[in-house]
Amino acid sequence: MNNIAVLYDAGQAVLSTFDLDEVLQRILGIARDYFHLRHVAILLLDRQSQQLYVRSQIGWDEGQDKLRWAVGQGITGATALKKQPVYAPDVTKDSRYICSAKSTLSELAIPLMVRDEVVGVLDCQSDRMNHFDSETIDLLTLFSTQASIALQNARLYSLEQQRARQLQAINAIAQQTTAVLDLEDLLGRVCQLIQDAFRVSHVSLFLREDHDLVLRAHHGTLTPRIQQGGRFPAEPWSKMLASNTTLTEADLNEGPSSTKFFAESASRICIPLVSFGHTLGILALDSALPDAFRDGDLQSLESVADICATAIQNAHYVDRVKQLAYLDGLTGIFNRRFFELRFMEEIERARRYGTGMAVIMADIDQFKRLNDEFGHVLGDEVLRQVSSLFHQQLRKIDVVCRYGGEEFGILLTQTDAQHAVNVAEKLRKMVATWQFPGVPRTVTISAGAAAFPSHGATRDDLVRAADSALYSAKQAGRNKVCLANPAREKSVASGQ
Ligand code: GH3
Ligand code: MG
Ligand code: MG
Repeated sequence: MNNIAVLYDAGQAVLSTFDLDEVLQRILGIARDYFHLRHVAILLLDRQSQQLYVRSQIGWDEGQDKLRWAVGQGITGATALKKQPVYAPDVTKDSRYICSAKSTLSELAIPLMVRDEVVGVLDCQSDRMNHFDSETIDLLTLFSTQASIALQNARLYSLEQQRARQLQAINAIAQQTTAVLDLEDLLGRVCQLIQDAFRVSHVSLFLREDHDLVLRAHHGTLTPRIQQGGRFPAEPWSKMLASNTTLTEADLNEGPSSTKFFAESASRICIPLVSFGHTLGILALDSALPDAFRDGDLQSLESVADICATAIQNAHYVDRVKQLAYLDGLTGIFNRRFFELRFMEEIERARRYGTGMAVIMADIDQFKRLNDEFGHVLGDEVLRQVSSLFHQQLRKIDVVCRYGGEEFGILLTQTDAQHAVNVAEKLRKMVATWQFPGVPRTVTISAGAAAFPSHGATRDDLVRAADSALYSAKQAGRNKVCLANPAREKSVASGQ
């Protein structure tokens, strides 16, 4: 009767829930109570390393369940090797015995089998010697088949769940990526979605630049070895990048630590991002656990990588189109459209943070005459060279634009009036002393400078002020720089 009861209860436990931890704890609880055991555990076999590790236990000594041992080692290892129950009626006399609880005197280990394969071990320990008679061993063997079924069911179910989560994520990523065209934003979101769906420690996206992999976005819990924007030499990945194949590394601690993206990472999968035959970079998933990636994840991850690659390509394309729309065709510097856009942004920033900004309007002197004397082609070349001189002389954060014809608009961020005059003066001198090939005389510019807020508090006021300063410079004989007149109190104060 008791025998039937225990098998019935085990069967119920198997059916009760799909949560693996819960099923295992119930099974162990039943085994402990029916068979009067002190210490019971279910160990699983890691197929790759051929090691047993504790998945669930009751009553083991502190920390002992963190150990792993090879098939063949200990009573449980012997069971896994022989595919049969192994019994040590007196552990003190059994040389195979490995202690996991100090009070144990007898140990019985039973293999958990799925078809003819060992997937784990049910380990039963008692504080009494000779605790298990042959009838109990038979019953526990029957009981262990229920445990195997439970294990298998829960595993299948969790795989199913994982698949469903991954499918959802692929869908979400596909939807989000078509809507997001800003690359940084896109990469950040993708990393987050992947981490949620694949339950890994860290997700990162590296894009190729020259011979490096640049970390463009990442999301997770590990400690990055480089900052966002930092580089790893692409060399260790050159093979996978050239062949466009996914690389799974089960134990990163075996390889050189210089190729680790994250300090605590123990295993990793790197999937190439390929669009139209070009490898744009890699999608890397890192886990703090060794051997965390299964073949089953691969297909989903490769689909995700494909979506990412296409989205990255699209974002690149949009960037390029945007860039073209804001560049001047003749000189390659920014055009007036960009000048207006950035003006609004800079004036807003200056207003909000009180950092100041200035504008310079510069115009080539007597350019019409230069065209007449040397022809339009040479005139064009002079425009290109003046643009390039300006570009070289200014800081990266300043914005040089061709405002129209032979006139340039320059935005100087975080700059006051005096500094703007100094900059304009530097540009004027540079042009006046420059030897333009094919032009046997000096070319000069005139410039007017105005600063926020002393010469105007709006775009229109500032440009008008700089323009009239430019006009003054022309009136004063050209090849000159003038500063705008202070704005009338009213327009400054009104903030219009
Ligand atoms: P000022 O010193 O008063 O500025 O005299 P200016 O001759 O430079 O001024 P004006 O406005 O009278 O003439 C501008 C000339 O610039 C007229 C136009 O042919 C020439 N120009 C405008 N855009 C281009 C261009 O893209 N290429 C060439 N080669 N010339 C251009
Ligand atoms: Mg001119
Ligand atoms: Mg002009």
